[in-house]
Amino acid sequence: MTATIINGKEIAVEIRKQIQSEVRELKEQNIVPGLAVVLVGENQASRTYVGMKEKACAELGIYSLKIELPETVSHNELVSKIKELNSDPAIHGILVQLPLPKHINEIEIIETISPEKDVDGFHPINIGKMMTGQDTFYPCTPYGIIKMVEYINIDPAGSHVVVVGRSNIVGKPVGQLFLNKNATVTYCHSKTKDLAAITSQADILIAAAGRENLITAEHVKDGAVVIDVAMNRNSQGKLCGDVDFAEVKEKAGYITPVPGGVGPMTITMLLFNTLKSAKLLDGNKINA
Ligand code: NAP
Repeated sequence: MTATIINGKEIAVEIRKQIQSEVRELKEQNIVPGLAVVLVGENQASRTYVGMKEKACAELGIYSLKIELPETVSHNELVSKIKELNSDPAIHGILVQLPLPKHINEIEIIETISPEKDVDGFHPINIGKMMTGQDTFYPCTPYGIIKMVEYINIDPAGSHVVVVGRSNIVGKPVGQLFLNKNATVTYCHSKTKDLAAITSQADILIAAAGRENLITAEHVKDGAVVIDVAMNRNSQGKLCGDVDFAEVKEKAGYITPVPGGVGPMTITMLLFNTLKSAKLLDGNKINA
């Protein structure tokens, strides 16, 4: 069988259209969703991601504020900046671009962001809410994956979801979101024995290891949904995922490409969460 390609770009465009129309409606009520992005230091990849986020905000009419701080900024200075943003009424979402320089305690910084403005969904309060099945800001990449599976009309209830990877930003939360949707979830990681024996049982396989060609046809069940989260560079410097696309697409039922799969969904869900925050924080102003 040749798999149906899940086109993340197309799905992202659909969701962004809905966000844009809601942003317009809010503007009629004098509410402009605002996202602050804090960039520390000169990391080139971080700069590129922040640029993409700013551009996406501009396209949808979301106000974006970029705060650039030098590599040498102290932990306390960064904490003060975030506290300022926490109390700024024009800002509904705060994102601190990771990674941060080594002298800054990332966990403390994330915990400084008000949970009400934590549009990345990394604050322990929001993670706890997700774990207990409450509505909250879900981490953007995992949430984007859930939306992709919804888009192809697959109900994960009762399915076996296997997640390869257990990071706090992708692996663990994506498994949790599928569990919340009544899937049976198995996590694999670098210490897992006989990866193929486990992944080949998956109805939905999420590859988030960051290892080129880790997932080959022998890792995949016939007809499975294969979601490739990874963004690796191959020996020619080209972007690629964890999945051997050419081989696996002949066995899977659905597959995401890299690029053009999960990637476009991540920023889309950040915009979605920023809009959601504006509605929650400024909802009292609507038709007031
Ligand atoms: P990470 O923190 O490096 O975590 C990688 C995970 O994969 C770890 O849990 C690791 O296991 C596991 N792993 C590594 N090698 C393995 C192997 N050979 N077999 C099984 N498991 C293995 O990475 P991350 O931040 O979760 O990101 C994962 C990938 O997704 C990266 O390529 C990243 O660039 C990409 N990503 C994409 C997006 C997007 O928008 N598309 C967003 C975020 C991340 P241990 O825990 O045992 O070390």
